Amino acid sequence: MAQQYRARKRFGQNFLVDHQIISQIISCFANSTNPIIEIGPGRGALTAELLKIGVPLIALELDRDLIPILQREYQQHDNFDLRQADALTFDFTCVKHLAPIRLVGNLPYNVATPLIFRLLEDISWISDMHFMLQWEVVARLSARRGDSHYGQLSLVVQNLCETTTLLEVPPTAFTPSPKVNSGVIHLKPRAQPLVSVEQRAVFNALVKSAFAQRRKTLRNNLKGILDEKQISDSGVEPGLRAEAISMDGFIRLTQTLVDARGSAPD
Ligand code: SAM
Repeated sequence: MAQQYRARKRFGQNFLVDHQIISQIISCFANSTNPIIEIGPGRGALTAELLKIGVPLIALELDRDLIPILQREYQQHDNFDLRQADALTFDFTCVKHLAPIRLVGNLPYNVATPLIFRLLEDISWISDMHFMLQWEVVARLSARRGDSHYGQLSLVVQNLCETTTLLEVPPTAFTPSPKVNSGVIHLKPRAQPLVSVEQRAVFNALVKSAFAQRRKTLRNNLKGILDEKQISDSGVEPGLRAEAISMDGFIRLTQTLVDARGSAPD
């Protein structure tokens, strides 16, 4: 790993230095034959090991000062394709012909959620994603009904991907150490989303309204969207809070709303 570089806060640079954690992440790629895109290679903690797998590795790094360091260290690998680019605006259409592609990255906290949302706009070319994120975000992405972290992010992402928490990682695994724990999550796009493409916008908006005020009941948060009878006719108890409603419950509420709009007079 390239050591001669001081971390920059504005790029969210917390470099992984715990070899056991690095090995655990890399083990998810054992015998993999799909090309890999690494977001934010940094000083190459994961890059060095990913290159050994031997499949094409495209690495997107925003910090231009890291580019010559990474080039010097890893340019002897024929499978290394390093690009100085912002993953939030990078045009992924230029790599889609390599699909299915695996994504991996230890992501800065301000990049993680917008990047995941951007990738979810078209996941057809993605085989799977392994991301190191702030623990709080990992918990929200993988939360199920009843978890304190369950909310809009959990439902919108789980509609499209199976989510599995793989590791919880302490601040000591990085230099400099972040203030909070991190975690590694696996996001595997579903063959079919749970909600049809036509109903997705309705589902996303309904979930947003349902969690608008976490302590309020569904009856209150969905006022003006679905009435009490429509909620209970969907098999959902209107007096519950959104955090108590399963994915299936939200899918049934979405269907009720779509049906109601379809039959409403113009
Ligand atoms: N992968 C390295 C590791 O694990 O040690 C570095 C991880 S560090 C948390 C995040 C890396 O992402 C940094 O190298 C940073 O410069 C880069 N980065 C930050 N924002 C980015 C963006 N929008 N697009 C691409 N890379 C970005």
